[in-house]
Amino acid sequence: MNTIKLTNSKTRQKEFFTPINSCNVRMYVCGPTVYDRAHIGNARPVVVFDVLYRLLRYVYGSRHVSYVRNITDIDDKIIDRAVQAGIEIDELTSKTLNWFHEDMAALGVDYRNDPQFFEPRATEYISEMLAMIEELIKRRHAYVAKQHVLFSVESFQDYGSLSGRSTEDMIAGARVEVAPFKQNSMDFVLWKPSNNDQPGWESPWGRGRPGWHIECSAMSHALLGETFDIHGGGSDLIFPHHENEIAQSRCFCPKGDFARYWLHNEMLQVDGKKMAKSVGNFFTVRDLLNQSVPGEVIRFVLLSTHYRKPMNWTKKKADEAMMTLRKWRNLTSGIKEGRPPENVVNALADDLNTSRAVAELHRLAAVQDGPSLKAGAMLLGLLHDNLGHWYAPKSNDIDEILVERIEFWINQRNLAKIEKNYARADAIRHKLSAVGVAVLDTVDGVKWAINPAHENSGKWELLE
Ligand code: AMP
Ligand code: ZN
Repeated sequence: MNTIKLTNSKTRQKEFFTPINSCNVRMYVCGPTVYDRAHIGNARPVVVFDVLYRLLRYVYGSRHVSYVRNITDIDDKIIDRAVQAGIEIDELTSKTLNWFHEDMAALGVDYRNDPQFFEPRATEYISEMLAMIEELIKRRHAYVAKQHVLFSVESFQDYGSLSGRSTEDMIAGARVEVAPFKQNSMDFVLWKPSNNDQPGWESPWGRGRPGWHIECSAMSHALLGETFDIHGGGSDLIFPHHENEIAQSRCFCPKGDFARYWLHNEMLQVDGKKMAKSVGNFFTVRDLLNQSVPGEVIRFVLLSTHYRKPMNWTKKKADEAMMTLRKWRNLTSGIKEGRPPENVVNALADDLNTSRAVAELHRLAAVQDGPSLKAGAMLLGLLHDNLGHWYAPKSNDIDEILVERIEFWINQRNLAKIEKNYARADAIRHKLSAVGVAVLDTVDGVKWAINPAHENSGKWELLE
């Protein structure tokens, strides 16, 4: 059996991974808050932990690994967005969840037929949250104030141990609401009151709704028990979210360890800043798919950087990934899935070193070892049939008249740009993109590519 090493945020060290029970390996990852399309930063943990899940299944056997990734479907951002859009909360959350499933499936993350994957929605676990909050009050780890229930940070000695922050740092970082009824400004909300326009549930403290942190403690406990193996998420969640989850869960189950290995992916950035909806510097996975960047290419780019390093999304990386994948698909067409080569498995087992695994795949491609390349790539979720719809074996299969027609429009666009008629240049780009032809402005000039999976691909009459 391969030994896996993982960097545990709790100890800040790379450690051998030893599951509590190798026949029942359990992982929990914080999932999306469903009020908007997933941006490309949100896709990073989804893809990274998908590869970890694949590796765990490979090492321990598919039936012996359980994966829980929750859905946060009650949150103030959701409430605000539903009001803005003038729709019901359920309509917003189910529409957004469908988008999330579609977009992630395009990146090769699709657990629809996986009995070992669980996707609990927070609103389905309100009674578990209420029970947990009541117990925390009983044990004096939480208190009631002005219809709120707050967790008392002072009641938990280890508070701050995951993030290793001082109290001053935590106060500055948490940007917690300063409320006069808090005993300590660090105390955080477990339950808060809802007015008649806000969604709410009956509780011993009046009609209200849960805070965000208690959701993950209640769902992980209900599905994975009081101690489980791996807890993951983006590094932006270490504080306060994961620190607060630990406080709640360990005070609720003092005999348990809660999660034994904490894994955090670093942030995807744009110009050195975290890509975030709140900053507005984001683009969605759907934006890229609509611009004919195939999901497989997005996945490849996300895995080319080790998960513990910050990464930038660039157009150049996507163009290069597309060329590489085209080459790899040419090399492996018709080859059946086999056993992944040791070097690829070892790279992944070494703290999920996907960039080293990709380098190994490049080496296998260079020596034309198609079977090993295919099997190794498949362990990273690449070169699967269901991700290959974008790939057209050879460009000379495309009929010449069509090439002429596309190049005619590319020329027209170049002319428009020379004349500074940007409106016309843009209109031509849209015309091409409407039939699945992506136009790329590169340093070596304008390049184009056809996405055969585009809904209008083949309707070339639209190009007249
Ligand atoms: P949210 O919907 O904002 O709660 O985020 C869902 C997941 O995406 C969490 O695991 C976050 O840590 C992660 N995430 C958010 N922004 C980024 C980013 N720019 N890069 C990487 N992960 C991110
Ligand atoms: Zn969480």
